[in-house]
Amino acid sequence: MTAIPGPLDATSMRTHLCGRVGTSDVGDSVRVCGWVAKRREHGEHLAFIDLRDHTGIVQCVVPGTVDVRSEYVIAVEGVVRPRPEGTANPELPTGEVELGECTVTVLASAEPPPFAVEDRVDVDETTRLRHRYVDLRRPRMQANLRLRAAVNGALRAAMDRQGFVEVETPLLWAPTPEGAREFVVPSRLHHGSSYVLPQSPQLAKQLLMVAGIDRYYQIARCLRDEDLRADRQFEFSQLDVEASFVNQDDVLAFVSEAVLDAAEAATGQRPGTIETMTWAEAIDRFGTDKPDLRFGMELVDLSPVFEGTGVKAFGAPCVRAIVLRGGATLTRSRLDTLTDRARTLGAKGLAWFRVVEGDDGTAGLDSPLDRFLSDGERSGLLAATAAGPGDLVLVVADEYRVACSVLGQLRVDLAGRPVSEGPYRYAWVVDFPMFDGVDASGNPVAAHHPFTMPHPDDLDRLESDPTSVRSQAYDLVLNGWELGSGSVRIHRGDIQSRVFAVLGITDEEAESRFGFLLGAFRYGAPPHAGFAVGIDRLTAIFAGEDSIREVIAFPKTQSGSDPMTGAPKALAPGTLADLGLRAVPAPARA
Ligand code: ASP
Repeated sequence: MTAIPGPLDATSMRTHLCGRVGTSDVGDSVRVCGWVAKRREHGEHLAFIDLRDHTGIVQCVVPGTVDVRSEYVIAVEGVVRPRPEGTANPELPTGEVELGECTVTVLASAEPPPFAVEDRVDVDETTRLRHRYVDLRRPRMQANLRLRAAVNGALRAAMDRQGFVEVETPLLWAPTPEGAREFVVPSRLHHGSSYVLPQSPQLAKQLLMVAGIDRYYQIARCLRDEDLRADRQFEFSQLDVEASFVNQDDVLAFVSEAVLDAAEAATGQRPGTIETMTWAEAIDRFGTDKPDLRFGMELVDLSPVFEGTGVKAFGAPCVRAIVLRGGATLTRSRLDTLTDRARTLGAKGLAWFRVVEGDDGTAGLDSPLDRFLSDGERSGLLAATAAGPGDLVLVVADEYRVACSVLGQLRVDLAGRPVSEGPYRYAWVVDFPMFDGVDASGNPVAAHHPFTMPHPDDLDRLESDPTSVRSQAYDLVLNGWELGSGSVRIHRGDIQSRVFAVLGITDEEAESRFGFLLGAFRYGAPPHAGFAVGIDRLTAIFAGEDSIREVIAFPKTQSGSDPMTGAPKALAPGTLADLGLRAVPAPARA
């Protein structure tokens, strides 16, 4: 077919996109292509077809009858004309016009779709994923994938503008240090040996710094064999970044610029600057290192009020509270549910106090614990929480981290705000601890990865008091979701050896796991730092979706399978033999 000259939308098969036919085209002959969204007959002499492509729907009026059904792929030629008086459809962008005197060419017939191609229909996920190509025809999914492309485009443009170079790193790689379980790819040429799919391009990007690339980025696919959740898939995409001769503030500035650009591209609005708080402050105020800043309900320290208390339940190193405004109306059974929830989260219990107005007009407490409180404790609790009549005070007394994390989670539960609900509140959380508890053999566990630089002020305590050492690691958080993390890396061999020693990684082990990186560092490693932004999560929030599966073209189900392709599948015996593998029956599940 010869190309039809016309606007950008035109190809050799069409002059217009369905959703873009408008009143300015009235009188023109046009040719549109797409899927039959709806077909209705008007007597024997007229058929109406709603034709859909990714831009929308246009109504086509065909003289006589026409043999097409839902989801047939057709081309329609007709003349644009205003719809007859009183029949305009204000819900459709093309609703003031229609194509008249149409001729229809069937390009492909179609079986009835497994579900209607409409946003409003409720279809179970397995069916949607089995027929993902039909599911993706829905306007919402079309919008999501296009939004994702816009986010990627904005991220790329921002990194290019800031002098970063896009470099692709291998998918067939060796184990990386992120700590998650890895997907392995058995080698055909080296029986018994495997590649590993990268959990992230962490080591590759550090090698690129040694290589003098200076500023690297990549929209990188990362793979982790971990249980799936609403915000986690086996494979996900990151804006992966690394730069040389920079400090933490430089990285925060580069990444902020890219993320704010992406926000603007996706939502039309550029957020102001991103606020920064330390990890310690985040835990103290919000009970979590992923603070949701859209609402208050910050944790209140009641330890001074209950110091030396006679109330047994409050005899703990830390007493903290949150206040639910207007929460005094919560029923006993709801309070019992909250108490159970607190226990599931690790607390020994949950104390609640309804704030009521006393006979003399002053605030008092209604709670089974009230009669054990001294007057000073009662007034101290009210003063510290600033709670007034009608409010509910929830108290957890425990170790510091337990009390904070339980209340932090109850705070989020009680607010009940879907992650994608505006406003968008970003936060940089900096100064993470270097280590996150200890493992079974008593060695501290790296909170980020073993190449993270300790905080310079804490370096002298690395061996003597490792769990008090802060690192130069930082996270980006949006509406309570972690969008990504990064760190200043260790580029000095002496510090790296000390960190490995504290982690219980022997020289031999370090050499066998990361020898290629350590070897490269011996040839001159610049100071460097980096970050990775989770693109699936970022896009999901902008798209108003609470699951990243809605912004991924072909995601896996919660159980890690793909109902469309049937993956994962048993390998044919010949393939196993080629790889030098033998299948063994799956162990019985406990
Ligand atoms: N590799 C890290 C991650 O994937 C990010 C980074 O430190 O740059 O979480």
